[in-house]
Amino acid sequence: MTPAPVYMDYNATAPVLPEARAAVAAALEITGNASSVHGFGRAARRLIDQSRAKVAALVAVAPEAVVFTSSGTEANNLALSSADDRRIFVSAIEHDSILRAAPKAGRIPVDGDGVLALDALEAALAKDKSAPALVSVMLANNETGVIQPVAEAAAVAHRHGAILHCDAVQAAGKIAIDMNALGADLLTLSAHKLGGPAGIGAVVVRGGIALKPMLLGGGQEGWRRAGTENIAGIAGFGAAAEIAVRDLDRAAWLGDLRDEIERRVLAIAPEVPIYGKKARRLANTSCVGMPGVKGETQVMAFDLAGIAVSAGAACSSGKVAPSAVLQAMSVGKDAAGQAIRISLGRGNGPNDIGRFVAAWKELLDRARQLKAAA
Ligand code: PLP
Repeated sequence: MTPAPVYMDYNATAPVLPEARAAVAAALEITGNASSVHGFGRAARRLIDQSRAKVAALVAVAPEAVVFTSSGTEANNLALSSADDRRIFVSAIEHDSILRAAPKAGRIPVDGDGVLALDALEAALAKDKSAPALVSVMLANNETGVIQPVAEAAAVAHRHGAILHCDAVQAAGKIAIDMNALGADLLTLSAHKLGGPAGIGAVVVRGGIALKPMLLGGGQEGWRRAGTENIAGIAGFGAAAEIAVRDLDRAAWLGDLRDEIERRVLAIAPEVPIYGKKARRLANTSCVGMPGVKGETQVMAFDLAGIAVSAGAACSSGKVAPSAVLQAMSVGKDAAGQAIRISLGRGNGPNDIGRFVAAWKELLDRARQLKAAA
């Protein structure tokens, strides 16, 4: 019998939690438009308010700070569009929804471990004082899991009169987040990375920071994001956020599984690079290179073995480019195209680790044989 497929791509999207699925289904039974004043509308409004409070609790803020959007991508675009005439600086390892939304932004480098160079941020902000700035730094990188010094970056930014946006899409549900302790003025979340449905996200806004709406129309979300609310998505997001807060302690144990993968892989081939290993990382993420074998070839081989992982930067077209994140970490272009990301979640267990390592070894042996025969 073919064994069940193994999902190790939680950073791409996490399976929808049963609680989130139930919340979505229940919300779909509600008929009202939350802007209507009658009882139907008030029921929809109540559900949104309850969910907003749960999402707010995920990052330890008041509910009014949460503005629901259609995705993390929209939230990032909305946060950056609020820069107005501020200069924008972003870390070199941001998600495309930051990099492409602010193509002219100054890029702040990271070191070889994938950690933001705070001195470079300080220098960039000090150099040009002609206008205030907006700085965008993610809390955890989607490819390597490396956790960024956001609180320190916020302190630097504030010292220079800048505001700080933090893309916390990958960190939420994996590490505790206190937006005030981080010092972030704007923060992005996305439901589908933590067991909610895809197509719902939020930008969290510190009091006193004005968001410049991208979508104009009705007064939803305090005039910050027009459009009739996606109450099913919002309800699913709220349910997933509540479970994420409840189960945060359990997220750390994935580190044991991840470390076991890395220990066994290095025992087989000590020369293999594990990117960001020396830095503080999310417990669920490992970015492993296999010299000489393209990331997409590895992904296909794992898929044939019934294991879902992903290659560095699979863009929405399905094509895989050498990872820009790894290149920003000074990894050469070839090696940056030969890495895969393993990202674990609550569905994984010790048996999956054995399956992964066996498939990984088989692939490595085949690559070595091919090389020897060439
Ligand atoms: N930011 C980061 C770091 C991500 O990893 C992703 C998704 O991969 C996004 C933003 C975009 O979120 P969404 O898929 O909700 O648009």
